[in-house]
Amino acid sequence: MLRAILFDMDGVLFDSMPGHAFAWAKVMSEYGLPMTPEDAFENEGRTGIGTISIFTQRYWNRPATEEEARELYCRKTIVFNEYMAAHGGEPPVMPGAAEVLNKVRAHGLMRVLVTGSAQQSLLTRLEQHYPGHFTSELMVTGDDVRYGKPNPEPYLMGLKKAGATADEALVVENAPLGVRAAVAAGIRTIAVNTGPLADRLLLDEGATWLFPSMQALAEHFEEVVGGEEEG
Ligand code: CA
Repeated sequence: MLRAILFDMDGVLFDSMPGHAFAWAKVMSEYGLPMTPEDAFENEGRTGIGTISIFTQRYWNRPATEEEARELYCRKTIVFNEYMAAHGGEPPVMPGAAEVLNKVRAHGLMRVLVTGSAQQSLLTRLEQHYPGHFTSELMVTGDDVRYGKPNPEPYLMGLKKAGATADEALVVENAPLGVRAAVAAGIRTIAVNTGPLADRLLLDEGATWLFPSMQALAEHFEEVVGGEEEG
């Protein structure tokens, strides 16, 4: 019996990934760590220090120090905010996400947020754009976790907060490493390919369903949930 749907945030609820990918590529390259926007999509879901260390390991043969990571991540946040200021102020909501959330609520299922993001204003923004769907009790952020995706930790923590078992939940993810984390937590995962990566990358990580957009998931939501209830 299905009880909860766990939602990733960037690239699922908000169309924020183009800005993040731009900021990552620009700032990492400034520090002598060549990174393309596509690299940013492939590493999406990691914590800031996790992403930075992948590249310092590759180019400097060592993990980033905490101080380096803090400085670089701080600069990345500034560049992301500049990008957003030049592109309408804040990330747009993902088309179709409100419809998906409304269907989840109509089925009496809990909405749980599981994000690597650690912004303080997160709940305010969610409440503004998706009123009544999320609460601080049913939210796992970058501040709560030790390892972050692709480790299953954030999704296991989400299940615990919801009081649900892996069998009683589904995950909605847009990133290969996010799918990997959810699958490692034992949760069947709906991949929504809202970015530029190949579908194959999401399916190879073990996604059970794949949709090209949140609108497409909204249109097929009953089939996904109905299949669960029967099966
Ligand atoms: Ca994401």
